[in-house]
Amino acid sequence: MSGPELPRVGGRPIPTELLIGGDRVAAADRFPVIDPATGAVLAEVASGSPADMIMAVDAAAASGPDWAATTPRHRSEALRRAYELMVEAADDVARLIVLENGKTIADARAEVAYAAEFFRWYAEEAVRLDGSLGRAPSSGNRILVTHQPIGVSLLVTPWNFPAAMATRKIGPALAAGCSVVLKPASDTPLTALAIGELLRAAGVPDGVVNVVPSRRAGAVSSAALRDPRVRKLSFTGSTEVGRLLLREAAEQIVSCSMELGGNAPFLVFDDADLDAAVDGAMLAKMRNGGQACTAANRFYVQRAVADEFVSRLSTAMGRLRMGSGLDPEVALGPLINSSAREKVGELVEATVDAGARLRAGGRAPGGDGFFYPATVLADVPGGAPVLAEEIFGPVAPVVAVETEEEAIALANATEYGLVAYLYTGNLSRGLRLAEALETGMVGLNQGLVSEPAAPFGGVKQSGLGREGGHAGIEEFMEPKYVAVAW
Ligand code: NAP
Repeated sequence: MSGPELPRVGGRPIPTELLIGGDRVAAADRFPVIDPATGAVLAEVASGSPADMIMAVDAAAASGPDWAATTPRHRSEALRRAYELMVEAADDVARLIVLENGKTIADARAEVAYAAEFFRWYAEEAVRLDGSLGRAPSSGNRILVTHQPIGVSLLVTPWNFPAAMATRKIGPALAAGCSVVLKPASDTPLTALAIGELLRAAGVPDGVVNVVPSRRAGAVSSAALRDPRVRKLSFTGSTEVGRLLLREAAEQIVSCSMELGGNAPFLVFDDADLDAAVDGAMLAKMRNGGQACTAANRFYVQRAVADEFVSRLSTAMGRLRMGSGLDPEVALGPLINSSAREKVGELVEATVDAGARLRAGGRAPGGDGFFYPATVLADVPGGAPVLAEEIFGPVAPVVAVETEEEAIALANATEYGLVAYLYTGNLSRGLRLAEALETGMVGLNQGLVSEPAAPFGGVKQSGLGREGGHAGIEEFMEPKYVAVAW
């Protein structure tokens, strides 16, 4: 089945070849990109080989020193132009994201705005790079510290935010003076290729940004990580793959920033504003149809308000219209592929078999596309796999809890530690509990934490390092200390 025509982005057709050294490079192999709403093939994209990846590292290594030597103002202005071009092309990029990822057009527009902000934020950070001068405590020496770009960076991104996960890495890398090779997810390579074109149009020199889609993710990233010129790996994806890449990066002692999986708890206390908690739950659970690392994965609600919360959440979930994300009336698009849908269906069935009550959804429709309805599970027994695994789908399991201590203990009983959400009417209780939660981020009476100016990232097995904010650019720089006396 062949799909709809692809949008042009900023007036340009979307390339389907590799982007290496400013050239569109054909590959011996190609792979199909599928529209998850229909199963139709959208395009056949070049699949980079390990040799292609080394060619991209060659291009990044060759262009790196000149890029690093440009002034911060020069890099800032290139990123600013990229921001402006992306905002101008926002409708095209959003449509492209809907086609290859399946999310709703509203979610895709929000993603493009968020993604473009990383170019603007790092355009502003590029000219705020500072160092320090201190004095050694026991000698006359001065401690002069500057920061230098870390070097050629391998960026590996997932399919769930095909634009934002790329710009969240490219923005700070370019601002710091690094050249990059981006390996996007094979489910969504077109958005990455379109962003590569926007960066060229913004005046980023050939070779500074290379894009190598591939259906051989393991082989191409291994080739890059074995190459001693690659000094940085910035990865966003599952904890399982992150662990493999950390092992490989150890061989050449490559600096790693890892944004990995999550299992976000969503806590509602009996003093919370329930309307706000349900609105926040819908946002935290349903952005991207639940396919977000920050998605609320487990709801722990204090017993006095649990039934009311479940009832209001089930009504809100049951109202969501499901269908193609291109239809502006649709609030829930398909999952990314058929195996994702199978996994979500199996988790729901196992939870119902274990004794949970189905309050909304729970049955996948027939027909084309990888759809699964908004689902609420109440009275979920402790120990159910749905509470331990990343669901990555529109399913909300709710557990009633008695006390604050019980809620915090359950929230922390996971190897993940990306984000937690917490609803209470008492701000000091909220701040106290935010400190007790073992996560890198907390949404306090907020269902959305993503913000380009804030440090995004997790603790425990959810990752290493931070993206966004000032912390994001530091991941692409090495401090240089000069001992000097005068
Ligand atoms: P994934 O399977 O780990 O894939 C992520 C990237 O790694 C893709 O480009 C993928 O390529 C590549 N990859 C897969 N296997 C590999 C291997 N053996 N060696 C090297 N690279 C490999 O994750 P995903 O399914 O795309 O994304 C969902 C996951 O990402 C979830 O766990 C989610 O929580 C996490 N995530 C985290 C954040 C965060 O900021 N913490 C943000 C978004 C998503 P292919 O596509 O070709 O397989």
